[in-house]
Amino acid sequence: MYAYAQRVKYMQGSAVREILKVTEEPEVISFAGGLPAPELFPLQQLREGFARVLAGPDASSLQYSTTEGYVKLREYLAVQMSSEGINAGPENILITNGSQQALDLIAKLFLNPGDTVLVENPSYLGAIQTFRSYEANFVTLPSDEQGITTEGFAEIITRFRPKLIYVSPNFRNPTGLTMSLTRRKSLAELSNRFRVPVIEDNPYGALRYSGEHLPAVKSFDRRETVLYLSTFSKTVAPGLRLGWVVAPPELMAKLVLAKQGTDLHTSTLVQRALYYYLTHNCVESHISSLRKEYAQRLALMLREMAAYFPSQASWTRPNGGMFIWVTLPDKVDATQLLQEAVREKIAFVPGSPFFANGGGENTLRLNFSNSTPEQISTGIERLGRLLDTKLNPKLED
Ligand code: PMP
Repeated sequence: MYAYAQRVKYMQGSAVREILKVTEEPEVISFAGGLPAPELFPLQQLREGFARVLAGPDASSLQYSTTEGYVKLREYLAVQMSSEGINAGPENILITNGSQQALDLIAKLFLNPGDTVLVENPSYLGAIQTFRSYEANFVTLPSDEQGITTEGFAEIITRFRPKLIYVSPNFRNPTGLTMSLTRRKSLAELSNRFRVPVIEDNPYGALRYSGEHLPAVKSFDRRETVLYLSTFSKTVAPGLRLGWVVAPPELMAKLVLAKQGTDLHTSTLVQRALYYYLTHNCVESHISSLRKEYAQRLALMLREMAAYFPSQASWTRPNGGMFIWVTLPDKVDATQLLQEAVREKIAFVPGSPFFANGGGENTLRLNFSNSTPEQISTGIERLGRLLDTKLNPKLED
């Protein structure tokens, strides 16, 4: 009916989204979304932040502001970054409308139709969708429990000449797996050597429940080819839509131009209210209570899975984040299983859309942060029973 641009044909909705609509019904227990627990949002403190900012002497929090973002917030973030081993001043930080916007802006700057992006397999669906909307091709990187395997990587780079490499090293969405220290170092080294930008997407890094903190890939970057992204979505609240990119000056200038064309700037009010919140509260203790609660939900989900899932299923045991990744026998189609599951009032996300070039029909992702312990116990028992009847049908007497 309309003469859309060519790229629109790469923006596809998904069948899964349709099936998942039923999860809005209150009696459905959903492990599908990637949502934080709303009861843990610092609601009162944010209320205070917004009220204080609006009560200020002038109405500047309602005015247009700079594309780069609120300078005090960028200064605050620069300090945070240095504690991550990332050397950045406020001039290297662009405030974005969530890290999803950062992905879009970077794609807008780098990708021509047909360009190649290297991605983990599986990888974050939102990133795949963004790159696809700029008509990118994907080359998926072989990986194991330690993240992408960097052996053979140099050949992949010379062969496919990628424009970008996208990774999410901490408790990544969807598998919950973490990239090892050695691989982080080699990835930074390869990116520097071949001058291929790495997008290091780190929304979950602060949500570690076990194991040692690992330095960012960006902290090993000697030639400014690693772009670091993070967000307040998982540590404060996703509805704020507040994220940031750390980029070298040349790229900052281009990102600013790209963002101007998209939305001029991120909300002045939200940036200031968040800054108020960050500087008048103990954010570290808020994050540590999130960690405590999520760690319990994760442990509970893993325990219930061990108790109720049939032996043919296997799954990851993440050290942080929000997701567990399940692999079922090859013959099981998780999208079909989802249809049966929603009839049992239980939901998850089938894994195949997370595979940029297809595959993974027998996989699925479970979110543990957005369900109460009671929902986790009931939901995993239900899902376990469904899997068991499917995989181990009882013979009639
Ligand atoms: N990257 C990853 C890996 C994510 O899981 C998400 C959110 N699900 C995002 C980026 C986008 O987060 P936001 O735009 O809310 O910052």
